[in-house]
Amino acid sequence: MRCPFCKEDDDRVIDSRASEGGSSIRRRRECQRCGRRYTTYEHVEDAVKLLVIKRDGLRVPYDRERMREGIRRAAFKRPISSERIDQIVDEVEEWLVVNHEKEVSSQTIGERISSVLRRVDPVAYVRFASVYRRFQDVGEFIEEARDLKERSAADIPGQQDLFEENDSGSVKRDA
Ligand SMILES: [Zn+2]
Repeated sequence: MRCPFCKEDDDRVIDSRASEGGSSIRRRRECQRCGRRYTTYEHVEDAVKLLVIKRDGLRVPYDRERMREGIRRAAFKRPISSERIDQIVDEVEEWLVVNHEKEVSSQTIGERISSVLRRVDPVAYVRFASVYRRFQDVGEFIEEARDLKERSAADIPGQQDLFEENDSGSVKRDA
């Protein structure tokens, strides 16, 4: 973002937050050249032009519908209304744009969705979290599933599709 004082385009974001009820993102910036600070506002619609860094390193445009679909699948036959799913999508999206100015890893998105789902529904959470965690933290997932005394995520119809459709094309399902 170009500095209004010295016109240099070299800033550091000091603080970001949602404002006006979440419709815009306010960022406090410091110019790396002249050291002065200024504030910018972005519409959320512009801010969500984030790039998502996939596990294989490819960058793709952030896709709200894809996120919604992943959550919808995790919520299959669970008592979670489509309005609630939209709220979850909104909540995660707001966090993404406030905390990530240009790009964000698909893993970070997955972890954030997991943490929101955890509060909403344990089964949807385990289904979703398993997709994102299984390659780093299989043991933790198994503990989690055992604690919840729920069916294993592997038994749930549609789970294979969830694995297939989530971002990591390079991941082997049977790894
Ligand atoms: Zn400056």
